[in-house]
Amino acid sequence: MNPSPRRVYIHDVAPRDGFQIEPRFIPTERKIGLIDALEQTGLAKIEVTSFTSQKAVPALADAEAVMQGIARAPGVELAVLVPNLRGCERALACGVDEINVVMSASASHNRANLRMSPEQSVAQIESIVRAVGGRAAVNVSLSTAFGCPFEGDIPVTRVVEYVDRFVDIGLTRVSLCDTTGMANPVGVRHLFDTVLARWPAIIFTAHFHNTRGMGLANALAAHQAGVERFDASLGGLGGCPYAPGATGNVCTEDLVHMFHAMGIATGVDLDKLIEASVTLPELVGHEVPSQVAKAGPWTRRYPVPGGPA
Ligand code: ZN
Repeated sequence: MNPSPRRVYIHDVAPRDGFQIEPRFIPTERKIGLIDALEQTGLAKIEVTSFTSQKAVPALADAEAVMQGIARAPGVELAVLVPNLRGCERALACGVDEINVVMSASASHNRANLRMSPEQSVAQIESIVRAVGGRAAVNVSLSTAFGCPFEGDIPVTRVVEYVDRFVDIGLTRVSLCDTTGMANPVGVRHLFDTVLARWPAIIFTAHFHNTRGMGLANALAAHQAGVERFDASLGGLGGCPYAPGATGNVCTEDLVHMFHAMGIATGVDLDKLIEASVTLPELVGHEVPSQVAKAGPWTRRYPVPGGPA
């Protein structure tokens, strides 16, 4: 084992990737309360909402109110998803730290999800980078980078080509996303080994969904390749439109717990994270997949049955 494992930075995406597919609208003040609590846990970044159209994502129709209502704790970057120039202007007006733009490595997924060709998406991302003009950081999330529910495997060469394009248009932050939970640790290691060797100065984030139970294994493989930044979702909120009933993103507290158990620092207070997570079932109206919030951390001890009280 590595004698001095690198620390990692944890990003929570529950308020965006999680809430966007919740059928029940989460009241604005409850969203604000949860984000404020998350800001106190030591997370490096929180993706707080999406500046998309109300019609497309009614669950996040209160993006401005959420951004304006939340506290701004020092040291926590506040990111938002932006689908187009209009969303970009709305986000900048709210003083966001990071604008996250999305496209798919798979042309068919890009069309299904964004109704654009990959070329149109790259052009739009370039126009957003120009419009931002340094007023916020811009991160691009490349969806289906590890597999597409329509096309199957995505060749590493294609991901490399897209990252090349992103670097050409001035992007320095890239998330590789396993949007529908198709990645496996061997493929994850290979892809991140490749991109980290090619672009040592680009800030890569690993974004895994736990759709098929491989989220933590994939995160570990990414860390072993040298990735330092991880998206995760409190409680494991989120889902996958092509796998109904599937679990969501890799769970933030489960991920933090794994790193801590291995002696890898995250900067996150796990107890505070669990405190925030246990409020979720009541907030969203259903159970959530988190395991550590239910079982407690590995440091928990129990009295021996039948022993002295
Ligand atoms: Zn996602």
